[in-house]
Amino acid sequence: MCGIVAISGGSCASSEVLLGLMNLQHRGQDGAGILSLSKKENATGNGFHIDKQSGLVSLGDLEDKVRHRKDSFALGHTRYATVGGDAVEMLQPFLIEKFGIGLAHNGNIVNFLDMEDELSRDSALRLSSGRWVLSDSFMLLAQLARTLRWRDWNSGAIFDAVRSVMRKASGSYSVVSLLENGTLFGFRDPHGIRPLFWASRAGEERTEYGIASEPVALSYLGFENITEVRAGEAIVVSPDGQFEARIIDEKPVKQCMFEWVYFSRVESEFGGKSVYDVRFRLGIELGKRVKEMGLEADIVVPVPETSRVSAIALAEYLSLPFREVLVKNRYVNRTFILDSQTSRQEAIRRKLFPIASEFKGKRCLIVDDSIVRGNTARQITHLVRESGASEVTLLSACPSISYPCFYGIDFPDKAELLAGHLDNEAICAELGADRVIFQSLEGLSSAIGSNDLCTGCLTGSYPTDVALADRFAAKRKVDRLSEGESPSVVSNASKSKSKDSRRS
Ligand code: SF4
Repeated sequence: MCGIVAISGGSCASSEVLLGLMNLQHRGQDGAGILSLSKKENATGNGFHIDKQSGLVSLGDLEDKVRHRKDSFALGHTRYATVGGDAVEMLQPFLIEKFGIGLAHNGNIVNFLDMEDELSRDSALRLSSGRWVLSDSFMLLAQLARTLRWRDWNSGAIFDAVRSVMRKASGSYSVVSLLENGTLFGFRDPHGIRPLFWASRAGEERTEYGIASEPVALSYLGFENITEVRAGEAIVVSPDGQFEARIIDEKPVKQCMFEWVYFSRVESEFGGKSVYDVRFRLGIELGKRVKEMGLEADIVVPVPETSRVSAIALAEYLSLPFREVLVKNRYVNRTFILDSQTSRQEAIRRKLFPIASEFKGKRCLIVDDSIVRGNTARQITHLVRESGASEVTLLSACPSISYPCFYGIDFPDKAELLAGHLDNEAICAELGADRVIFQSLEGLSSAIGSNDLCTGCLTGSYPTDVALADRFAAKRKVDRLSEGESPSVVSNASKSKSKDSRRS
């Protein structure tokens, strides 16, 4: 999962992209980068600048580098690694300067190793540094560069290039791309698995455009008329601000359900529906399950932060006290930088503090957004029991995740998933809870108000052909081992950059 932002127009596009990325920080914290275009000094024409750094957008020197830049075209990326290792060269945007094209991508291309077999034969398709990058995002750029290399950059040629990508690439992709002449374009895979939005605003000289993963990044920058890029659609903004959109490939819409449950910001809206409302309804659906079971409890406690809205709804529905008594220490280092599984588990204890007096003797409903590998849930159950709770029921606002994701969330291996190999009774025993209640599939669809969803990790039924996924998953395992994960951690339990360790 990653966040992308792009701007065409105005006079400080790089700075605006930086601010947009700060609003998408939740989508990726491994690193960030900005590609921008400005007049070449002492020459006519444009020149690219590219700046990248590991870690959070607001840390490091990215801000210092871009904030005084006067430019009208830029795009940026926040990275959450799901392909490739931690090296800075894996950070996006990617640029093939020779062909005047750069790109940032959110999603995963399941068959990227097969694309690589073909594209790597073309020795001209290299980064500006001359290097080849084994990354699915780079394969998208190489495919675009291959078809746009003759610099015939009218909108028809761009739509054709996007069509060539859609024919070759299988998986999820929301993409923004910038050409050396100032043309900005974006596109979304034919199922619309990952989100993408565009918007406009009146500028001093022309209409200005923005493209971003979530509407909050665009509204923050003063854009209006925020519109979803439709599944399979490409949009092109010419250097002088002419806008064109075209559906390139139409397939059934299958938006990732996890965007609603966990990933997107609660202030975002998709298709006119707010993420906040959906999370609230997820809580009500959970409440219905609790009522059907005739379960009695004393307090409802959210696991900070994502589950708070669902927990409020659950408490209201059941007329139970809502208590925020698992308190997060905001200043503990992110768990992923710790170098062993034991350290990471200790880090959860250092990040979350129970207010023991509130748990003592109580029957507790602990609400989390989801249970993936179970590491956080196991630790929390332990903390709550240690604090004297008489009963611990874990509730997951998401149905049980039993199958891998190949589309941009980092759990490509079924063996790592708690529900991938245990039934509900065994999950309770594994987590040390009295019971575990998962959202139903019907409750999820009802809360979101749509069946146009990818539910691959819940049902094992994926929107695209995942016949090549074994190769993808094997490559990811190698990446993770090279990042320093022990084999047992990679195959069995917590992944340092997993959703379980990314609560912030
Ligand atoms: S498999 Fe699951 S996490 Fe992955 S895109 Fe589909 S719904 Fe989202």
